[in-house]
Amino acid sequence: MSNANIEKLLAAQKVDRERLQLIQNLEKSKVKVELDKANQTLASSRVTLTQLENDAKDLQDNYQKFAKIINDTLVQVEKARSCNDTDVEHYDDFLSKLTKLEGQMADIERRIVQKTNTYKVLFNEVAKSSAIKKKYTEMFEEAKKDAAPKIQALEKQFNDMVKGIDEKLLAKYRAIRVNTGNSVKDVVVPLTADYCPSCSTFVPGAMVNKIKTDGWVICDNSNCGRIIYQA
Ligand SMILES: [Zn+2]
Repeated sequence: MSNANIEKLLAAQKVDRERLQLIQNLEKSKVKVELDKANQTLASSRVTLTQLENDAKDLQDNYQKFAKIINDTLVQVEKARSCNDTDVEHYDDFLSKLTKLEGQMADIERRIVQKTNTYKVLFNEVAKSSAIKKKYTEMFEEAKKDAAPKIQALEKQFNDMVKGIDEKLLAKYRAIRVNTGNSVKDVVVPLTADYCPSCSTFVPGAMVNKIKTDGWVICDNSNCGRIIYQA
């Protein structure tokens, strides 16, 4: 390992790893896990609440419709009675229709009560989840605030250390860091056998020669793209 660029980048990578480890510690902390859980619970509860609201609206609409039909039927019954309609069979028809309608209405009422109860329970759960979310959000923000100065200091240290490094090489490094998110896995990796230590892709002789002349080469696997240097 004689390439000065690689040497500098390897030293900087150590600092970068430390920074990423701090970020990862935050992301994997119990507080963050609980916060994610609360967010998931809230999201699914809200979907169910919306469904219940829509169901309740449909039931109310149905209820109104039946109420109107019953009312119309009652008007017809009254009319028949006042006209001294002697057609008893006709009158009985009205009555059985009314009984049936009232039965259907009672059923809708029952379902409205059921939905309302489910809604109340879920509404309370959402309130509880919201409180939990608020608590963990505050705790997570606090933890982030605590870690921020150290993370920023490491970032500054990294930026200072990579000053003067070949721009193409540095751009590759930064691009892989972006692609791999907050992973602490190394971007600059040593060639110890004839394959990439990060993804195990074969490193052919031509690439090995390129490492010898340039000091480094980019792994052929586009999903990996690690910077490989001669160990
Ligand atoms: Zn690779």
